[in-house]
Amino acid sequence: MSTIFKKIIDKEINADIVYENDTVLAFKDLNPAAPVHILIIPKKEIPTINEISLEDKEILGEMFIVVKEIAEKLKIKNNGYRLVFNCNEDAGQTVFHIHMHLLAGRKLSWPPG
Ligand code: AMP
Repeated sequence: MSTIFKKIIDKEINADIVYENDTVLAFKDLNPAAPVHILIIPKKEIPTINEISLEDKEILGEMFIVVKEIAEKLKIKNNGYRLVFNCNEDAGQTVFHIHMHLLAGRKLSWPPG
């Protein structure tokens, strides 16, 4: 089932897009949990990490390359950042289209609560 992220991919609703190519889209999180909070998503609809398959490995690799480019552009690569995938209920996943959270711009506590 399609999610709100599919509507962002299709430009049916607005998002603050920071990066886009044929396979990956990155945009600012609507409710930022840190001064920098960007979501990196594949354009392919994959509900959770549980549904990824070997054929998705290039897409997933590309998501990390995009993170690297964004981290350079936003000058956060030296101070650091955190990447998070939430999967299903216990992790608090709310949008069932896989997405990587890129969080930065403040000290991030560990372990998560
Ligand atoms: P998760 O809880 O891991 O599923 O994360 C979903 C994230 O999507 C949350 O941090 C939301 O704030 C964010 N979000 C939901 N709708 C939008 C939207 N329309 N534009 C940007 N971010 C959104």
